[in-house]
Amino acid sequence: MNFAQIILPLAQPCYTFAVSHIPDLRVGEAVVVQFGKKALYTGIVLSLHNDPPKSGKVKPVLKRLYNFPILSDIQIRFWSWMAEYYISTVGEVMRVALPSLVKSHATTEEFYNPYTLPQERVLQLISVPDSDTLAKMSRRAPRRAALISELQQAGGSLPRQQSSADAATISALVKAGIVEIFERDSSPQLQPITQSALPILSEEQNRTLQALDRGLEARNVALLHGVTSSGKTEIYTHYIARALERGEDVLLLVPEISLTAQLVERMRQIFSERVIAYHSKLTATRRTQIYMDMLRAPAGNFIVGARSALFLPYRKLGLVIVDEEHDTSYKQSEPNPRYHGRDAAIMLANLHGAKTILGSATPSLESFNNAMAGKYAGVTLMSRYGGSLPPKIIISDTMRAVKRGERKSHFNKELLDRIADRLAAGEQIILFQNRRGYASYVECPRCGWKARCPHCNVTLSRHLKSGTLNCHYCGYTTPDPHFCPECKTSQVEAMGMGTERIEEQIALLFPTARVLRLDSDSAKSDSAYNKIISEFAAGNADILIGTQIVAKGLDFKGVTLIGILNADNLTNAPDFRAVERAWQMMLQVAGRSGRRDRAGEVVIQTADPAHPVFSALSEAGYQHFAAAQLAERQMFNYPPFSRLIRITLRHSEAHKLAATATELGQRLRQRFGSRVLGPVTPLIDRIRGELIVEIILKIEVTTSFARARATLTEQIDALRKEDKNKGVTIICNVDPV
Ligand code: ADP
Ligand code: ZN
Ligand code: ZN
Repeated sequence: MNFAQIILPLAQPCYTFAVSHIPDLRVGEAVVVQFGKKALYTGIVLSLHNDPPKSGKVKPVLKRLYNFPILSDIQIRFWSWMAEYYISTVGEVMRVALPSLVKSHATTEEFYNPYTLPQERVLQLISVPDSDTLAKMSRRAPRRAALISELQQAGGSLPRQQSSADAATISALVKAGIVEIFERDSSPQLQPITQSALPILSEEQNRTLQALDRGLEARNVALLHGVTSSGKTEIYTHYIARALERGEDVLLLVPEISLTAQLVERMRQIFSERVIAYHSKLTATRRTQIYMDMLRAPAGNFIVGARSALFLPYRKLGLVIVDEEHDTSYKQSEPNPRYHGRDAAIMLANLHGAKTILGSATPSLESFNNAMAGKYAGVTLMSRYGGSLPPKIIISDTMRAVKRGERKSHFNKELLDRIADRLAAGEQIILFQNRRGYASYVECPRCGWKARCPHCNVTLSRHLKSGTLNCHYCGYTTPDPHFCPECKTSQVEAMGMGTERIEEQIALLFPTARVLRLDSDSAKSDSAYNKIISEFAAGNADILIGTQIVAKGLDFKGVTLIGILNADNLTNAPDFRAVERAWQMMLQVAGRSGRRDRAGEVVIQTADPAHPVFSALSEAGYQHFAAAQLAERQMFNYPPFSRLIRITLRHSEAHKLAATATELGQRLRQRFGSRVLGPVTPLIDRIRGELIVEIILKIEVTTSFARARATLTEQIDALRKEDKNKGVTIICNVDPV
């Protein structure tokens, strides 16, 4: 072939390069190309053809990098699907998909240093002495004879590292012309997986396994709705073992990096040290090594990872499990491609002909609806393993508490009494408040002045430990003024409730309690996070105060009381998914409690105790709640009954932004009519000094979504080309969460 389309790690289309001088170049191979004035890039062959481009000079590919493709056909199809579905370029997919060493680039040749495989020295037997000579050698130089037979047994050659021979023996045989040493790319370092006994499933878990089997005979995807501690992980292990026995790869996805360590540990106990953890916090070298090893090793790998693990070079994926499938952390919020890890996982499994299991104690309404509609198999497991009891849920009315004089700072008596009781019994408590910092804003009671971020249209949060006011959107911080800088007559007052303030109040109410706080301020690093978790798990603290971090995947056996301090700021969030999220958050937090011998208690403080979300916290209430939520979504034509694309426009000048946004809105309306909402100003309309406007596209599920995306892309591309719109950032988020 004469030409190739080459993927470069850029937000640009693929360009054509000449390749006729490179023999037998294959799709998926890595090559070196020059792009721009001097820059060199590692690119990947997307396709090969003989059609010269209509215009412009075609540069030649400078060099091929390895003697094998680094991207399979399935990966290329997966990347192409992702770019198209999430309105990005294949180059942007390459940017997130490949470990950094495999996609090197540099502005000049001097600094371009593409990844090369580490080399290894190999001993090769080139002539075998006759049996007389060998017999003599066995007596006089037994170590030489031993090396010869070692090489014979290995089929003639062996990496130097794996031979037991010493240097003198080797050089003697080399001198004698019997052995030769050569260098080659080092072989993959992957040993086969070994497996020890799988957990024995309870009767109920076995029934669930069988139901999953039946479901997956007819469907490619199964939703496993199993309450916390029902043993979903144990059921996974049985499926994983089967896929590995077939010699296929397994991918177990988790929503957050911090959750991989625990799960990898559990899986290694069964599937040996060969379980591979993969996520973006590993070093570039480690990620590259895993990628290159998997490329060259047979299938049969078991990966536990965050969403970036979707891009590893699976040879034959046999099973994908998406744990905590409801978790919004699966969605990449920036940069492009803004993909959903769960949805992409299902796509990847389909490309491999593999089955997908979605697991959750609190399934997303999307998946629940798919199971109801028969698109997915739906399987439920509603009892906790070992007969431990579900937590008892107490809805505590804050208004009534205020009226009766039973509220102290931010705690109802119902909660305070229980805290005192558990502290006396030496049991542990978790208090959940979904805001970090001390106060969400500070205000002057005299003149009404509020501290605001100079770069974003938000109030600044007070942080006590650092004595600063912080912006939670751009990271801006400024010293806490304490005194109103505007009227200079009054102290400012803290408004709203963050975890630091809860900590302060608990210290006043229960001065002897040992308290830990877990939020993104106290757990900035992995080690800080792990330290807090292990301290609490070891019983070195009585109360853990935290944000949603405490809701995720942690198991604390000593916790018998959980307080959710303000359920209303969950249910009242301005989002059509707010109630669903509130339900998920509360049940996930509630799932952290409970010992085998005694049910935990969950006290939920709310000013609106009649809200339907609370009745959905019991198993019996959920079906009804979900049906009601779905009916509401259908009425207002929200997902899963429509698909959304959020188009965000950003620029520092208001009139320029407004002009472009209005123009785009009008053009889209010509094509999509009333499916276009906006432009509207979002709640937070300025971040990092840039103004923000949004347009929402709402496409009913009965219309071709692919055609809608294509039309949208055309319109945006046309708009971007016009001079008056230059500089306005336009971002598409497909299926925003
Ligand atoms: P889930 O993932 O559904 O929240 P887990 O798999 O973490 O539940 O199980 C909860 C607890 O019960 C864990 O400590 C687990 O080891 C234990 N467990 C569940 N099923 C079994 C089983 N079949 N054999 C032994 N222990 C089990
Ligand atoms: Zn800011
Ligand atoms: Zn003032």
